[in-house]
Amino acid sequence: MNQESIEAAITSLPICDYAFLEIKDIPFREEVRHICRTECSRYGKSWSCPPAVGTVEACRERCEAYQGGFLFTSMAEVPDLEALEGTLAARTEHEQITRQVRDMFLGEGQEVLVLSTESCAICEHCTYPDAPCRCPDRMFPCLEGFGILVTGLAEHCGIAFLSGNNLVTWFSLILYRDRTLS
Ligand code: SF4
Repeated sequence: MNQESIEAAITSLPICDYAFLEIKDIPFREEVRHICRTECSRYGKSWSCPPAVGTVEACRERCEAYQGGFLFTSMAEVPDLEALEGTLAARTEHEQITRQVRDMFLGEGQEVLVLSTESCAICEHCTYPDAPCRCPDRMFPCLEGFGILVTGLAEHCGIAFLSGNNLVTWFSLILYRDRTLS
């Protein structure tokens, strides 16, 4: 994997901060899953969220099948940080950036698992649990839904986690492995 190529390519995108990381440094926490279960209105409503994504241990095992990670952020202004639906709508540009970064890794001959911020919002009504996901290639599971402590990972990587004044920081994590190894 040519990290320099990725670093050169992302200069064309409105990415605030980024870091390459080792899979062993990703903090998986049952407490994060507990917050999904008890505080998030999207729990049990999407293929991108728990319980559909499996246990935290299963999510960890999926991630450990990759060689490295690339964490990056973009920022957006939202009308009201407390209003989940409006906040999710403001995430569209971040998801487009995430697809572009994913494609850069694919262009480097990598297989990827892409995790992004919040629950998938591609369809107006998610098919979960009655029918398969309509867009499994475009849907990015939620970072926190995997049990990942995003603040801890950002701190480990030296990435700022800014919010307030209606500004929100969106995170995505691209896990990659050389296609020739599969
Ligand atoms: S792409 Fe559609 S069906 Fe799949 S997780 Fe997202 S909202 Fe649900």
